[in-house]
Amino acid sequence: MAIPAYRPPEDPGLWDAFLERLEKTLKVAEIHPTTVEYLAHPKRLVTVSLPVVMDDGKVRVFQGYRVVHDIARGPAKGGVRFHPGVTLGQTAGLAAWMTLKAAVYDLPFGGAAGGVAVDPRGLSKRELERLTRRYTAELVNLIGPDIDILGPDVGTDQQVMAWIMDTYSMTVGSTVPGVVTGKPHALGGTEGRDDAAGYGVARVLLELSQRRGLPLRGARVAVQGFGQVGGTFALHAAALGLKVVAVSTSRGTMYQEEGLPVEAVLRHYEATGELPRYDLSPEELFALPVDYLILAALEGALDEEGAKALQAKAVLEAANFGLTQEAEAYLLGKGVMVVPDLLTGGGGLLASYLEWVQDLNMFFWSEEEVRQSFAKSVAKAVAEVCAKAEALNGDLRTGALALALERLNEATRLRGVYP
Ligand code: NAD
Repeated sequence: MAIPAYRPPEDPGLWDAFLERLEKTLKVAEIHPTTVEYLAHPKRLVTVSLPVVMDDGKVRVFQGYRVVHDIARGPAKGGVRFHPGVTLGQTAGLAAWMTLKAAVYDLPFGGAAGGVAVDPRGLSKRELERLTRRYTAELVNLIGPDIDILGPDVGTDQQVMAWIMDTYSMTVGSTVPGVVTGKPHALGGTEGRDDAAGYGVARVLLELSQRRGLPLRGARVAVQGFGQVGGTFALHAAALGLKVVAVSTSRGTMYQEEGLPVEAVLRHYEATGELPRYDLSPEELFALPVDYLILAALEGALDEEGAKALQAKAVLEAANFGLTQEAEAYLLGKGVMVVPDLLTGGGGLLASYLEWVQDLNMFFWSEEEVRQSFAKSVAKAVAEVCAKAEALNGDLRTGALALALERLNEATRLRGVYP
């Protein structure tokens, strides 16, 4: 990259993916070099060692990370991932992506991300609790409702968020629900959070169907990844009249040409962690005759080889960095619509914002109020991304990136450089 940029000590991974997309967008958006240089350097990178007493009495030390990328538009906001592949470079890339996603949705947040390199399925519940509490304790002076707000991501859930909230609150001496979102309802979690990420994807599809004439009723959809995002999307897609014909996990794909009984499949998956049956390999999902493919697994899940097999008319990237750049270029060249992660995957962040606002005011809305506000924000984001893409004569990703960078440029310019 021509601009001076931060280099992670190892595995630049998603950080480089962010820089590449930033550089590409600078060709079409007018961004001041100072903003670019700010964005090419995360504000704060923290690495922590986390000793945990395991159930057998032995101590294991885990590596944890928290990166605050940029705070020009508001306090930092980002998820916490528990996964063996978590590194500083990956965390920095995800943090930068949160900065951009918040700007696309025009939310008053900066971007952050965090995580621990661990397979949470290999820990007992008590071990997981001790690890979460130690991670929070190590960061306690760097987080808070107007500093850096944590939330769920891959491998973490409502219970983990509850432990974070409790550890922070016990340390500062008062109950502070706003330090973390995605909490249980009993602790200040919002209505409509459980399925927000999947609901957001469904609302984006609904808005695009109206704007760009995409078919909905009876349209066939395949969902890669059947977790928080993919599972809840499948439910909402079925409710919109789409036919969910395939869902996959890392173990394999379940396929049923006439459409899957989504609710029953989801109940089975939640109870057992497995799909009821595996008809195809995970990769065979890509080649199925569908109208839409939803990427709701992990980054880089669709590469050029997978893209070449694709029959879908549109790919909705719910997972951050779900497509490789080569896969995207190939699909756009073939006229396949790619709905980028910054837009498709905004539901979790949007619900987090609504939860945080309620926590700050200690005043809580009904599910209907939350859903209404949510739907309005998704409609606005889709309209603005489409308008920007059309103005630039570009694709939706270019539109989303340019919109975000212009908003960040304005905030950075107005704030100036301190001191
Ligand atoms: P999750 O852990 O609940 O689910 C991930 C799913 O993907 C699992 O079913 C897993 O088996 C599957 N998977 C993994 N590798 C696969 C492969 N090669 N082929 C098919 N399936 C595979 O995670 P999640 O919370 O649903 O998050 C999914 C993605 O969405 C992540 O990239 C995450 O960063 C992003 N995201 C999540 C949220 C949220 O609120 N949960 C919000 C925004 C973005």
